[in-house]
Amino acid sequence: MTYSTALITGASRGIGAATATALAGSGIQLIGVHYRRDQRAAEDTATRLRSLGATPILIQADLAEGEPAAAAIAKAWNQALAAHGYSGTDVFVSNAGINGAQSLAELDPETYARVQAVNLTAPLFLLHHLADSLNDGGRIVAVSTGYTRIAAPTHLAYTASKAGLEGALRAVAPELAQRGITVNCVAPGVIDTDLNADWINQAGAREGAGRLSAFGRIGTPEDVAEVITFLTSDRSRWITGQTIDTTGGSLL
Ligand code: NAD
Repeated sequence: MTYSTALITGASRGIGAATATALAGSGIQLIGVHYRRDQRAAEDTATRLRSLGATPILIQADLAEGEPAAAAIAKAWNQALAAHGYSGTDVFVSNAGINGAQSLAELDPETYARVQAVNLTAPLFLLHHLADSLNDGGRIVAVSTGYTRIAAPTHLAYTASKAGLEGALRAVAPELAQRGITVNCVAPGVIDTDLNADWINQAGAREGAGRLSAFGRIGTPEDVAEVITFLTSDRSRWITGQTIDTTGGSLL
């Protein structure tokens, strides 16, 4: 099975940009580069994709708007597919997300609602709006978090959103399997991206976070993108409804 089209949310930087680059390297031809507001970063991703022979399609939307944002992304992506002569979506990577670190004492309704909208509501409705355009044998991967396995009292709203996404994708996996479509999550540990920019460069923080991993370092966006690339290839055809730990063996 050859895959030609992929939509990736949050592909302007971090894990999403690394995934877009890896998928272009694996031969995907049309790549939807969704981003929130940093058009320059999205253009940088697009330039890398072009240099690898892929055609990037930039799609702007704020996932904090929930379902309407999801509908707008699906509409723009489906129009791009038709304009470039493709029949549908081969690969959908739901990557965009926000951290929203909050403990039980800190929990506030606004932050909670925003985290759920970006990390759970918008991704699930994007899958809903894309469902008809998914090609048989397609691949869906969502980026969850190792915190669905490892207790993180500092990240309550975040963990709830990602655990919800894992559960919803597991629930939909049998239905989509009837069309040969696989649905999986990856669950990264601490990765060197802007998501952690507020603390990772503080004295000793990087080393301390690295010690959580069995390999003694924090992960790179490419460490996760490689696993996503496998899960979006034909080689992963016998895996669905699963969450693949990509924490570098953190807190085993
Ligand atoms: P990042 O901050 O570099 O990238 C996040 C991406 O999501 C960006 O492209 C950003 O534009 C997009 N995004 C954020 N809010 C958005 C919104 N409201 N609307 C649309 N897009 C929005 O961080 P990253 O580490 O590359 O994060 C990618 C995914 O990996 C996220 O889902 C995150 O939860 C998950 N993750 C990251 C880590 C880590 O340590 N970095 C660990 C576990 C899971």
